[in-house]
Amino acid sequence: MNTKQYNLYDSNNNLYQVSLNDILNCNNICFGYVRQSTQQQKSLEEQIFEIKKQAFIDNYDFVIIFSCKGSGWKINNINKLKDFKLMCKLFSTLKVNNFGDIRLYIYDVSRFMRNVLIATKFINDVFEPNNCEIHSIIDNRKWNNNSNNKLDFLRELIESESYSVLLSNKMKINSQNRKQKGNHIGGIKFGYERYKNNSKIMKLRKNNKEQQILGYIKKRKHELDVVSKKYLYTSLCHNLNSNKLYKRNKKWNYNMINRIVKSNLSNIEECNLTNQKNDDWIQCDICDKWRKIPTKLFSILSLKNNFSCEDVQCLNCNIPEEIYKSSFEESFEKLNLN
Ligand SMILES: [Zn+2]
Repeated sequence: MNTKQYNLYDSNNNLYQVSLNDILNCNNICFGYVRQSTQQQKSLEEQIFEIKKQAFIDNYDFVIIFSCKGSGWKINNINKLKDFKLMCKLFSTLKVNNFGDIRLYIYDVSRFMRNVLIATKFINDVFEPNNCEIHSIIDNRKWNNNSNNKLDFLRELIESESYSVLLSNKMKINSQNRKQKGNHIGGIKFGYERYKNNSKIMKLRKNNKEQQILGYIKKRKHELDVVSKKYLYTSLCHNLNSNKLYKRNKKWNYNMINRIVKSNLSNIEECNLTNQKNDDWIQCDICDKWRKIPTKLFSILSLKNNFSCEDVQCLNCNIPEEIYKSSFEESFEKLNLN
């Protein structure tokens, strides 16, 4: 017996947990599937909102929502989308119980699946045999008995897949080109930063603020001769955090200090603490412009494989590139020599 619970909304926007039996005893019920894999995509809530709106316009009284976070690209990922699997299972069970035709709403076809081959496999294996219609709201595509509609639905799937393939190829080529020109690519070790040299190539150099934190830790490391690890590390965390000298965007903790102490600090100069400000540069994978990013945001963005202007609020590819000034030029300007 199926004891799973499903999320059901009524037309007054109340949310209930219902069982398979409830669904079988319920008239006028439809289904919705939402998926989000990156922050830039429509949120699950926005997708659910559109689906509920359309379902009630189409005179359904209830809608059951399946929602997934994750990529719709590879078959392994799809196996990890718990709600997608639950939905497929439910549709087969409904068929066995003579539920009748099933209506599934999605926000747009790209939210259904990214990969055309896998999408068509699921349509063939799950949706077709269970008399399931798919209505894609934003792009107004329908998978139903009409063969023209089916072709349009497939075309939309192919277009959405080509778009993401083109984009990801462009990003790959960009990153290879940059590497060949001598740009530094990849993660940046604590204590270092990327900067743009005069030939517009991104290189790695020491980051003064982070070097200072390392220097401070190195200096205080000598205290281990007289105090315990626990005492020293706790004290270091407290001093750094209370001076807002974080490990990029993270507050220091025992393990972070431990890793630094154990790492190779031979090139680090011992020092005390003062406050300094820094920014980092990162290149957009779509428009190739270099963007100056506050250190705090940079540490989050540098964890991603790709960067586009849209990742930063108030920034987009149409905004011109900021002129690069070395920190020497900047400090020279601040002197205000007229
Ligand atoms: Zn851009």
